[in-house]
Amino acid sequence: MIKTRSDEYCIEARQLIPGGVNSPVRAFQSVNDRPFYVKRAKGAYLYDVDGNSFIDYVSSWGAIVLGHADDALITAVKDALEDGTSYGACHPYEIELARLIVDAFPSMDSIRLTTSGTEATMSAVRLARGYTGKDGIIKFRGCYHGHVDSLLVKAGSGLATFGIPDSAGVPADLAKHTYVADFNRLGTVRDIMDGSDDIACVIIEPIMGNMGVILPEEGFLKGLEKLCGERGILLIFDEVISGFRVGFGGAQHIWGIDPDLTCLGKIIGGGFPVGAFGGKRHIMERLAPLGDIYQAGTLSGNPVAVRAGIHVLGRLKSNAGEIYPGFAGAGERLSGAVLEIAGRYGVPYRINSITGMFTGFFSRSAVTDYESASACDRELYEKFFKGMLENGIFFAPSQFEASFFTCALSQSDIDRTIEACENVFRTIVNE
Ligand SMILES: *Cc1c(COP(=O)(O)O)cnc(C)c1O
Repeated sequence: MIKTRSDEYCIEARQLIPGGVNSPVRAFQSVNDRPFYVKRAKGAYLYDVDGNSFIDYVSSWGAIVLGHADDALITAVKDALEDGTSYGACHPYEIELARLIVDAFPSMDSIRLTTSGTEATMSAVRLARGYTGKDGIIKFRGCYHGHVDSLLVKAGSGLATFGIPDSAGVPADLAKHTYVADFNRLGTVRDIMDGSDDIACVIIEPIMGNMGVILPEEGFLKGLEKLCGERGILLIFDEVISGFRVGFGGAQHIWGIDPDLTCLGKIIGGGFPVGAFGGKRHIMERLAPLGDIYQAGTLSGNPVAVRAGIHVLGRLKSNAGEIYPGFAGAGERLSGAVLEIAGRYGVPYRINSITGMFTGFFSRSAVTDYESASACDRELYEKFFKGMLENGIFFAPSQFEASFFTCALSQSDIDRTIEACENVFRTIVNE
């Protein structure tokens, strides 16, 4: 694969941007590689500046769901642009997007838009603290909730990849209010709650996506909901990835959970910068201007991003009956074939998946939590990643990430992916 131009951009970028990237995992550092530079994206494909093309399973880290540069979405966005790019004032589309989201998530009475998932979780945590008058928060080892100070403790992929347990620059005075429990281990949550009467909230990715995909075991989320309910602790579902991806209504619909607050992002902006948090009316109405908890944003509810979001959610809603079963079917087909190949070549490999997202782990044993995910063979992943890229398939440049389907992915794209896996696994074992 020729990478001349990408390498030139990479050198120039590193002069001007720390590590050459505006978000760390894009650097390909954990797979000891250099990034390719994207020229354009269309459908299921990324096209780089050297003329290579890749079937894209990163899908902007889950933000893209229809496929890249979807024609009807582009038309909707062009129409929106004609009406102006930002008002800093109210407009009817904000109501339309809020209505679409609230209708899909019965746990939410009211919702506020932000410009990123990070802002959504940051605001939800502040709201939970203000509402309960308590400072402590419980999060789970390996769950990532954006780069919020209080949440950058044992925070999954980017950090797991780089081996930085916590970020420098997070005051110890702040981090001490963050308690870390283990995903799928309810006892670790109960122990923390028993040991402190200062807990405002529990925040969780109900389907872990940021340590690779890890599913909640039977009864875990229900148990969490019950523990929180009994003790007046708010339950915050971070569905920035899972909302509208695993189904129209997120993980909470699948497991029948009624969280106090929910955070969204990625898909709801149709590829534009949007986040949202929402929940029970009596909690949400503590926000300014009604209440005493401040939260704001110049570009929050940006009309272009909101109209893109409306278009995407509208499409998902009217075609939910085909799209989500389509994702599930694609997942089954790909997993089945890849597991068969791995088995044939004797490569230790596991796939965790749910509708629309999956992770293949190079591991002999089941991956159910931070511990078992950390035990995966990263060197094998590096070989797999590089081999797939050579074969024109782009998986995440880290073992601890999810892969995402889009509506643009075709059967023949999946066939090509399976063929590439056959080549790559054969090469891995013969090395
Ligand atoms: C991506 C992500 C965030 C942060 O969203 P940004 O838009 O990157 O700030 C928060 N929570 C989860 C679960 C995410 O995957």
